[in-house]
Amino acid sequence: MPRPGVQGLGLPRHVVQTETPTRAAGLARLASFVPHGAAYARERNRVVPPHDRVSRLSPYLRHRLILEREAVAAVLDAHPRDVVDKFISEVLWRTYWKGWLEHRPHVWDAYLDQLRHDRDGLAGRTSVRYAEAITGRSGIACFDAWARELIETGYLHNHARMWFASIWIFTLRLPWTLGAAFFLRHLLDGDPASNTLSWRWVAGLHTRGKHYLAQAENIARYTDGRFDPKGELDEQALPLTEPPLDLKPRALSASVDLPTDLQSGLLLTPEDLAPEVSHLSKLGFRGVAGGWDETVGEALDLAPPVGDFSRVAIGDALSRAEAHFAVPTHALDEGDWLAAAEAWACGLAVRQVVTLETPVGRWRERIDQLDARLAKHGIALVRSRRTWDSSLWPGATRGFFPFREHARRQGHLDGLTRIDDA
Ligand SMILES: Cc1cc2nc3c(=O)[nH]c(=O)nc-3n(C[C@H](O)[C@H](O)[C@H](O)COP(=O)(O)OP(=O)(O)OC[C@H]3O[C@@H](n4cnc5c(N)ncnc54)[C@H](O)[C@@H]3O)c2cc1C
Repeated sequence: MPRPGVQGLGLPRHVVQTETPTRAAGLARLASFVPHGAAYARERNRVVPPHDRVSRLSPYLRHRLILEREAVAAVLDAHPRDVVDKFISEVLWRTYWKGWLEHRPHVWDAYLDQLRHDRDGLAGRTSVRYAEAITGRSGIACFDAWARELIETGYLHNHARMWFASIWIFTLRLPWTLGAAFFLRHLLDGDPASNTLSWRWVAGLHTRGKHYLAQAENIARYTDGRFDPKGELDEQALPLTEPPLDLKPRALSASVDLPTDLQSGLLLTPEDLAPEVSHLSKLGFRGVAGGWDETVGEALDLAPPVGDFSRVAIGDALSRAEAHFAVPTHALDEGDWLAAAEAWACGLAVRQVVTLETPVGRWRERIDQLDARLAKHGIALVRSRRTWDSSLWPGATRGFFPFREHARRQGHLDGLTRIDDA
């Protein structure tokens, strides 16, 4: 079956213009960022396009086209630890948010419920303000420029994300859930954990009572004067509150031991697209499959470039898997992904389908559904967790700083664990 390729086949122009969704492009981006790693701590907060003071690695890390440990190892190979400490910390924020949500999957469900409620409740002036905000017509120049940048490029600088979310919530007084959904719709790195929890953090819901208020002076300083929204922002607003939500951590699902003596198929999802650099790399599989799922795109209302990024990235991962595992690969029909995955597994006549773990989010729901379907055929679905996640997620029960200390004890800050997954 034809697969979307990087050149030509099914690759829309907007994806070519912003990012190339391949592991090779992610590694090249990492290599070109490494020399700038030393200046990152000093320069990273400046928001000046084309944003070459930050790595812009997030779409690649988000889909695990490249790995967190590869990013950490690359900067440690080139610089002393203390010089790149800030960059490593930022990479760890990604893992922290993921681990935090794994301990509290209901926070994602609560977000989806509240989003439905807020969407249904949109009316009157709020509805007009919302329509203006998502089309870059709010009248606040910086906010409108960032809305357009996001739609056009699928990316926003971290500082701009913070300011944008803060203005959305505290100046425009729009529901935070709709802002988070607007980000997820357009970000090439859109991620249930980093996105939902960052919006909650800005709103003052993550650390109760502590919110992030965008200040005009700060925006003027870090945009080199490109914007100066003096007098336009509510710089005094109070944090949001919400009905009680249980934020106590629950036990993580157990990491499963992988039976290696069974006939197996390997299933790829856009949550982890580097199987050849994982603990699965030395296993034998009868076949490898993967494919985009239209219903996931619809459920999250993803903009076309976001689905296209995943589609092409999956095609790239299948090509690499074919070369590495030397077995046939199969592109699953995106119109009925579930039935296609079921048919593929049955056709391969395997006893188990192995997939690199899908964290909290829509893909996890699909994997749960596939699990139930395969069970009827006596085929087990094995979710295999990477060492990076199994060693770090348990530390994400409280705040970031205890988590970072946990990571230090595990050797991740020194790159001691850099070859753990291979
Ligand atoms: C409201 C809001 C929403 C966000 N939504 C997302 C999202 O959906 N997906 C996403 O990947 N990040 C999200 N972030 C975090 C952060 O803004 C992006 O990861 C970062 O801007 C990506 O750009 P970069 O690759 O150039 O980052 P760099 O500064 O070069 O950092 C390197 C890597 O570290 C990780 N990282 C850096 N900062 C953070 C952070 N604050 N939280 C989590 N990981 C971080 C990313 O993987 C990033 O690629 C959000 C932040 C805010 C404030």
